[in-house]
Amino acid sequence: MKGATILGNKRVVVRDFPDERPGVNEVKIGIRAATICGSDLRHSYLVDPSSEPDRPWGERISGHEPCGVIEEVGEGVTELSVGDRVVVYHIRGCGQCEWCRSGWILHCNSKKAGSHGLEYHGAFGEYLVTDAANCVPLPDNLSFADGACCACGTGTAWQALSRLRLSGDDSFIGVGMGPVGLSAVLLASALGARVIAVDLVPERLELAKELGAHETINSLETDLDSAVSSVTRGKLCSCGADFSGSTKARDDMLRNIASWGRAALVGEGNTLTAEVSPQIIRKQLSMYGSWVFSIQALTNLLAYLSERDLHPERMITAEYPLDRIEDAFENAASQRGGKVLVLP
Ligand SMILES: [Zn+2]
Ligand SMILES: [Zn+2]
Repeated sequence: MKGATILGNKRVVVRDFPDERPGVNEVKIGIRAATICGSDLRHSYLVDPSSEPDRPWGERISGHEPCGVIEEVGEGVTELSVGDRVVVYHIRGCGQCEWCRSGWILHCNSKKAGSHGLEYHGAFGEYLVTDAANCVPLPDNLSFADGACCACGTGTAWQALSRLRLSGDDSFIGVGMGPVGLSAVLLASALGARVIAVDLVPERLELAKELGAHETINSLETDLDSAVSSVTRGKLCSCGADFSGSTKARDDMLRNIASWGRAALVGEGNTLTAEVSPQIIRKQLSMYGSWVFSIQALTNLLAYLSERDLHPERMITAEYPLDRIEDAFENAASQRGGKVLVLP
C-alpha cells in the first residue's frame, strides 16, 4: 500500500509499504480522509531527526486523524461490517486494563499501547489496520472530512470544553486559533456561550468569525486587556482556554478570566508564568490540563455534531492528494490557514 511518512527536518515522502491484513478483533479501513494535526508538525515534521536518534523514522505511515470505510473484518469482529463508515480513535491499547475499559485508551501503558502514525501505521495511506474497538461509526450526515477532524483536533477541543463545563451562561475566551482553537469556537458558540477568539494572524481570526466567534481580537494590533474589558463591560470572561502553547498566550488568557472562573490548558509545551496570587489564588480559579479525549467523548461529539448539523470540515482551507503531501505540510506549517486535508 502507498503511504506517506514524515522524516523530520520538514521532509515527508510517499512510498510503498507492505500490505496488512486484519487479525483477530481487527478491521482494515480504506482511508477516505486524513487531516494534518498540529502535533504532526510539532512532534515530527519540524523535528530534527538527529535529536531523536532512537525513533524509527520512516518506518511507519504517519498521520493520526483517519476516517474511512471498513473494507475487511478480521476473525471475531461482530459489531462492524464491510462498508461501515468509521472514525478511528487514534491510540490503540490493550483493551483489558482499567484505562482501556474506561475509554481513556490513551492512558494504557501496556506494551501494545501506541498511536497510529507513530507506533502503528497511520492515516496518510491507502489503508489502515486497527482494533475494531477503536472504530466509532460516522453518522450519515457527517462527511469523511468532518470525521477526520474529530479523530484528534476537534475531539481535543470538545474535551476541553467538557472539562470547563461550558454552557450558554458563559463568556469564553479562546487563545490560539489553530485548528483546535477554531474547533472550540465552532463548538462553544453552538453550545450558546459568548465567544471571544484571540490570535495574531488575521486570516485565522477571519475563520474564527465565520465559525461563530462573537468577537475576534488580534493581540498584536490591539491591547487585549482593554478589548476584553470593553466587550465584557468590565466583567471579563467566565472561562477560557489556551490552544497555542505559548507562555505569553497562557498569561493573556488567565488575566482575562473573572473571579470564580475556569481555565483550561490545551496547547502543549513551554512554561506557565502566571502571577499566582492575583491570577489564580485570589480569583478562586479552577484550572484544568486537558489532553486528547476518551473514546466515549469521541462518540458523544459525533452524535452532537450530527444532531446539530455542525461540520468541522468548514475550517478546512486546503486539500491535497496524497502524492502532494509535501505541499500539504508546507501549507499547514505556514500556520496561516485552518485545517489541511489529505485525500489518499
Ligand atoms: Zn490498556
Ligand atoms: Zn493530534
